[in-house]
Amino acid sequence: MTELVFISGKGGTGKTTVTLGYLMACGAGAVVDADTDASNLPVALCPSRSWGEDVYGNEKAVVDASLCTRCGRCAEVCRYDAIPHPGEVCEASCEGCGVCALVCPEDAITFVPHVCGQACAGTTAYGTLYYAAMEPGEEGTGLIVSRLRRRAREGSPDSPIVIDGPPGLGCPVIASLSGADAAVIVTEPTVSGQSDLARVAELCMAMDLRFGVCVNRHDINPAITGAIRTWCADRDIPYIGQVPYCPALAAAAATGDAGRCVQTEAWPDLRAVCEAAEALTHAAGHP
Ligand code: SF4
Ligand code: SF4
Repeated sequence: MTELVFISGKGGTGKTTVTLGYLMACGAGAVVDADTDASNLPVALCPSRSWGEDVYGNEKAVVDASLCTRCGRCAEVCRYDAIPHPGEVCEASCEGCGVCALVCPEDAITFVPHVCGQACAGTTAYGTLYYAAMEPGEEGTGLIVSRLRRRAREGSPDSPIVIDGPPGLGCPVIASLSGADAAVIVTEPTVSGQSDLARVAELCMAMDLRFGVCVNRHDINPAITGAIRTWCADRDIPYIGQVPYCPALAAAAATGDAGRCVQTEAWPDLRAVCEAAEALTHAAGHP
């Protein structure tokens, strides 16, 4: 079993499109959509759902009205403005920090578990997809990503797993990269793309993870694409390829008809990137 992660450092670089290309070009036993706040793979792959489990976020404060004297101490100390009136908690705003319970003179405040979404799996034409369905207003966590990855490993113990990572550098990204065999940073030739590439590359190095770089929509700014290639070469970071701007490719990834990726003009370059990503994963020491 190998685990390859596609990350970007920023949103909108085409990471999900490259992940889909990898599924078409190289195949995988399972794919994990670790971008739990904005899961796009369920849209592209139309899974037939086979599993779902509640996932829990921070506990929420609850006031026992029979004990509450409406003294107002809880509302004074809540830093999240989650108690607009003494003894009345707004569930959506409560972060479960526990301060209100500490100051309540009547011990009227307790905490209850809070379901923030579901961890799901479904069969697709390209392997089993593991993804999260978050409730409105809820955000994904590294814990949910770890749970999805663990479930994918259990479901496909002998098959490659590919992970569409979340943007940014926070806990969900670290949960996506931790213990993986290799990562591919999908970036774009913009100033912000360069900046985020440097930051996420630093994270990969800190985690001692083998990684390569590919540039999506490389032809929208050849000068910056060239600068990224040079940046990689100067640091001995594998530059595994580039994909041209291709509206048809983006449309295939966004419309539930992922198989059309292979019919686009960008497909030969995308396939080459994905094959290089596969080689990178195997070079990390796995068969
Ligand atoms: S601190 Fe306790 S008693 Fe006072 S208003 Fe809040 S819940 Fe009620
Ligand atoms: S647990 Fe924290 S966020 Fe929630 S109501 Fe109490 S003080 Fe506010």
